[in-house]
Amino acid sequence: MKSYTKELWFEVPTRRAFINITSQVEQCLRESGIQEGLLLCNAMHITASVFINDDESGLHYDYEQWLERLAPHEPVSQYRHNGYEDNADAHMKRQIMGREVVVAITKGKLHFGTWERIFYGEFDGRRRKRVLVKIIGE
Ligand code: ZN
Repeated sequence: MKSYTKELWFEVPTRRAFINITSQVEQCLRESGIQEGLLLCNAMHITASVFINDDESGLHYDYEQWLERLAPHEPVSQYRHNGYEDNADAHMKRQIMGREVVVAITKGKLHFGTWERIFYGEFDGRRRKRVLVKIIGE
């Protein structure tokens, strides 16, 4: 069995963003040379997500609105977590959007459903953060 490990770095200039990282993950898969197996991709921070969905700007706007209704950033004083920090909402947004994805690898490709793409969801940006890619298989 082969294994491959890589960390991808991101520095998002805004507090929140959704970034399509599919091509970077596909590059990892090519580097690994693995044809059949499983790929794990996870955020290495508790205020960021990795998730799979459609690359459609309307949907991303809708996510932003929905997450802001569920866990509004302001007023930051509404959260007990916000003593030294102001990112309690980011922890909650990350929780609901998820930590990681697992994708099957078939014939050297990510075995996606229709329109599936991998996204990095940033909820407390403006600093360097990491995503782990781990691939195992043959
Ligand atoms: Zn925090």
